[in-house]
Amino acid sequence: MTGAHWLFGDQLGPAFIAPGEGGVPRDAPLVMIESQAVFRRRRFHRAKAHLMLSAMRHRAAELGDRVVYVKADTYREGLRRAVGSSPVTVHHPTSRAAAALVNSLDGVTVLPARGFLLTQEEFAQWAAGHPEGGLRLENFYRHVRRRLDLLMDGGEPAGGRWNLDHDNREPPPPGARTLDAPAPYRPREDDIDAGVREDLDRWERSGGVSFVGRDGPRLFPAGRREALAALRRFVDHRLAGFGAHEDVMLAADPVLSHSLLSSSLNLGLLDPAECVERAEAAWRAGAVPLNSAEGFVRQIAGWREYVWHLYWHFGEEYRTSNVLGHTRPLPAWWDALDADAVTARCLSTVLRQVGDTGWTHHIPRLMVLGSYALQRGWDPAALTDWFHRSFVDGYDWVMLPNVVGMSQYADGGRMTTKPYTSGGAYIDRMSDLCGPCRYRPGSRSGADACPFTTGYWSFLHRHRDRLLHNARTAMPVRGLDRLADLPELLRLEHDRGDAAP
Ligand code: FAD
Repeated sequence: MTGAHWLFGDQLGPAFIAPGEGGVPRDAPLVMIESQAVFRRRRFHRAKAHLMLSAMRHRAAELGDRVVYVKADTYREGLRRAVGSSPVTVHHPTSRAAAALVNSLDGVTVLPARGFLLTQEEFAQWAAGHPEGGLRLENFYRHVRRRLDLLMDGGEPAGGRWNLDHDNREPPPPGARTLDAPAPYRPREDDIDAGVREDLDRWERSGGVSFVGRDGPRLFPAGRREALAALRRFVDHRLAGFGAHEDVMLAADPVLSHSLLSSSLNLGLLDPAECVERAEAAWRAGAVPLNSAEGFVRQIAGWREYVWHLYWHFGEEYRTSNVLGHTRPLPAWWDALDADAVTARCLSTVLRQVGDTGWTHHIPRLMVLGSYALQRGWDPAALTDWFHRSFVDGYDWVMLPNVVGMSQYADGGRMTTKPYTSGGAYIDRMSDLCGPCRYRPGSRSGADACPFTTGYWSFLHRHRDRLLHNARTAMPVRGLDRLADLPELLRLEHDRGDAAP
C-alpha cells in the first residue's frame, strides 16, 4: 500500500480526512491502529476505554473498505503490519508522546493539526505579542472572536460586552432539586458496543489490563451521526438554559444544561467551528439569550482553544511544574473512585458521578476534586494522570494545563492569576450538597468541621508567604490572623490526614 493516511483514535471526524491544503489526498487508503498497550500502561475508567474503542470501530465501519483496521499491541507494530515500509501521512497528533513517536518513524509525513480553530502558527504570532503575564484567557478569547468574526457586530462584541460571566454564576434557584432542563441526547448501544464489552471483559480476565469505574450503557457519542444529533439536541433544546446556572451543583441533576460535547470534540467527531457557529446562529435567530450563547462560545473558542495551544507553547517541562512543592501520593480510596468510603457529601457525590459516568461538569472538577487535592498537597503530576484516566474526555493536551495550571496552580500562575480553591461556604452557596452532610461548611474545628473549610485555611497557612504577595489572595491570607482557632484547625487537618473525609 502506498500513500496511506493514518488516523489516530482521536482523529475520527471528517476534518481528518478532508482533502485540500495540508489535507489528505482524495481517496487515499486509511489506516487505523487499535493498540492494547495503551490500556496496559494506565488504569483507565472502563467507560472511557469503551468509548475510545467503540468510536474507533464505528468510524472504521463507516469508512468500510477504505480503511485497514489493525489490532496490535503497539502503534509501531500495527503500522508495520498495515503498510510495511511504505510512506504514510498523519495529521499532527494531540500528545507529545504521539508526536515523538510519529517523528521517530521512517516514512511518516506529519500534516498540520486539525480539530481546533487557530493554527499553531497563528497562536505563536499572538503569543509573541503578549509577554508571559499577558497570555491570559480573556486576551486570547477576544483575539479569537475578532479573528473569526465570532459573535461580533463589526469591530465590537455582539451585545456590547465581551464577557457575560457575571450573568453566568447564579446559585441554584431556591429549593430546586433539578434545573428541569430538557434531557440531553443519549446514544443507543449496538453490536459494536457489545463486541467492545466482550473484548474488555476478556482483557480484564487474561490480558493484564484493569479498569476502574462502571461501564454502564454508553452515554456519549461514538460516531459522527450520534455526535451531530447530540450537538443538535443541545443547541435546539438546552443551550438557552446553559448560561445562568453553569456553575451550579445539584445532587440529582449532575448534567444541568451542560452540552456533554467534550468527548465528541476531543475524539474529533465534532469540529469546534460548527459548534460555535451553531450557537451564534441560535442567538441571532432569537432562540437563545446572549449570556448562554456567549458562555458556550467562551468555553470552546476560549478555554478549549487556549488550553490546546498552551499545551504546546509551555513545553514538555510544564508537565513536572510543582512550584508549591506538593508531593503527597493520591490515597487508594481516591484512586479507586471509592465514593462509599467518603462521608463528605459533596466529594462522595462527585466521586460517584465520576465512577458511574466518567464525567462531571467543570465546577465539580475544579472546586470539589481539584480543590480537595490542592488543599491536601497531593502530587500534581499524579493527579493529572488520575484525571486523564478517569474522565471520558481526558487526553494529555487537555489535562495538563487544566490540572497542572488551572486546578493545582503548580505552574505558579502562568495560566491563572490565583489558585482556585475555597472553603465549604462556596460549595454550600452553589449547590444542594451541604444540607444533609454531616460536616458543616461554616465549622472550622471539632468533629463536624467541613474538610473543605479546614483544608482551605490550612492551604493558605502553608503557602502564606507566596499568597500574601498575590493581590488576589492577600486579603484571605491576612484573615488567617483573625482565626483564633487556627492551631486547633491545623491539628484537626493533621489528624485527618489523607483518610477519606
Ligand atoms: P460544557 O460546559 O458544555 O462546555 C462546552 C465545551 O467547552 C466542552 O465540551 C469543552 O470542549 C470546552 N471546554 C470548556 N472548558 C474547557 C477547558 N477548561 N478545557 C478544555 N475544554 C473546555 N475538558 C476536557 O475536554 N477534557 C478534560 O480532560 C478536562 N479536564 C478538566 C480537568 C479539570 C481539573 C478542570 C477544571 C476542567 C477540565 N476540563 C476538561 C474542562 C471542562 O470541565 C470540561 O470540558 C467540561 O466539563 C465537559 O463537559 P461539557 O462538554 O458538558 O462542557
